[in-house]
Amino acid sequence: MANSDSSNNFDYLYKKENKVRCLQCGRCAAGCPAAHVFSEYNPREVMRRVQDGEEHELHKDPIIWLCGQCYTCNSRCPRNNNPASIILQARERAYKQGHAPAEIYQQSAALLESLFLNGVTVSPVLLKEKLGVLSELVDVERLTKLRAELGLPEHNSREVPIPAKAIKQIRTIITSTSGQGERANDA
Ligand code: SF4
Ligand code: SF4
Repeated sequence: MANSDSSNNFDYLYKKENKVRCLQCGRCAAGCPAAHVFSEYNPREVMRRVQDGEEHELHKDPIIWLCGQCYTCNSRCPRNNNPASIILQARERAYKQGHAPAEIYQQSAALLESLFLNGVTVSPVLLKEKLGVLSELVDVERLTKLRAELGLPEHNSREVPIPAKAIKQIRTIITSTSGQGERANDA
């Protein structure tokens, strides 16, 4: 069985299961929305590279960041393979080893900061101020205006505020798992 340690999961996914079971039938690619949008992306090709022993180079390839993590590939695969999980593991390895795009580190830090301060990962203000790359996809100005018209606070997308006790617990989890000790002392 897969080990809870992520590096062992990575090897498990690559070596013990998907590698021997993929038929290269292409059903994953045929249903993959990312493959429809990006001509250079193809989950069947990802599986082919794994089968050919290139799995430990995959995390250095920027194509892994094109996957939308929708898991359509997994649901369509006749062998119950999971290209989405392989890509996720490759991303995790890329992140830890410094191969992820700069925007990923920036967005990750912004989401973690928002979670620490507000108890939520995304707010309209965060989209606007921190995740500039997303502002092309989300009309933040219109969203903020709509919220004001509806009498909703700009910063908080929740109808019921997160209890202070819960936020404290969230901060404890973040502090103990991601080295955010200085923040805890500031809060
Ligand atoms: S659908 Fe499954 S068996 Fe077919 S190419 Fe994709 S991963 Fe391999
Ligand atoms: S999880 Fe990724 S690889 Fe799988 S179908 Fe969705 S976008 Fe394609």
